[in-house]
Amino acid sequence: MPEGHMIHVDARRFDEAMGDRVVHTDSPQGRFADGAAALDGRTLRDTEAFGKNLFLRFSGDSPQYLHVHLGLIGGWTWWDADHQQLSGRPVVNADSSNVRLRLRTGRGDAERSAELRGAITCTLVDEEGMDRAVAKLGPDPLRDDADPGLAWAKVRKSKKPIGGLLLDQAVTAGAGLIWRAEVPFLAGVDPHRPGVDVTEDEFTTMWSEMARVMSEAVERGGKEITTDPADRPETDGHVSRDDAFYVFRRDGAPCLRCGTEIRVAEMGTRKVWWCPTCQPR
Ligand SMILES: [Zn+2]
Repeated sequence: MPEGHMIHVDARRFDEAMGDRVVHTDSPQGRFADGAAALDGRTLRDTEAFGKNLFLRFSGDSPQYLHVHLGLIGGWTWWDADHQQLSGRPVVNADSSNVRLRLRTGRGDAERSAELRGAITCTLVDEEGMDRAVAKLGPDPLRDDADPGLAWAKVRKSKKPIGGLLLDQAVTAGAGLIWRAEVPFLAGVDPHRPGVDVTEDEFTTMWSEMARVMSEAVERGGKEITTDPADRPETDGHVSRDDAFYVFRRDGAPCLRCGTEIRVAEMGTRKVWWCPTCQPR
């Protein structure tokens, strides 16, 4: 599942490629034919990401907002005028029959298109509908208007493990498996520790580290790296997947800081990784 920072990357791409431009839309798959017809020919006015939710606001009558949640397997693919893929997971079969929504803008060499496949939510909503969707979410560390106090108020009262709370989109919006494992490491907290036993200082560190690593990933166009350069082999600037994280998918390997074997466990049906030495219970 794409983590929340990728949705902010998507929002930026839409803003740069289609912001304030007339957009043409269709639904090759047919499942969003009415919505695509309603949006066709409108101008993209604004893009917003809240956690894993993307909202594109268009000109014209209400409903003005396209709400997209990618879910587990959804994704955007971007193409240039020659149908060369610009970003997104490589599409092996570029057949468009499974494209829920396609947006196009520009003419000739400047044409850009974005295709949406596999999303769990792709719907038009009015402003109230957007507010309702956002109201279900906790604060998103990547947003300037986020209030971490709202997340802390839930964490400090919860007996659930902090590794699970970070993944709960109603507590903090945006974290997936990478951040829910790496952020407790960066704060020196065992992900199994109940929220009630996390100190305010530890929570504040987790919040600021989450905001830092996520915004750095956005600046890299999405690539997640949490390791400090001092903790990974010297390279010519390229950081491999193996060297990018302290604990995520590193079970059995030695901790980059202390050498202890990294552990893995199931937490709420999904995995979590941690260093038993660097992250006391
Ligand atoms: Zn360690």
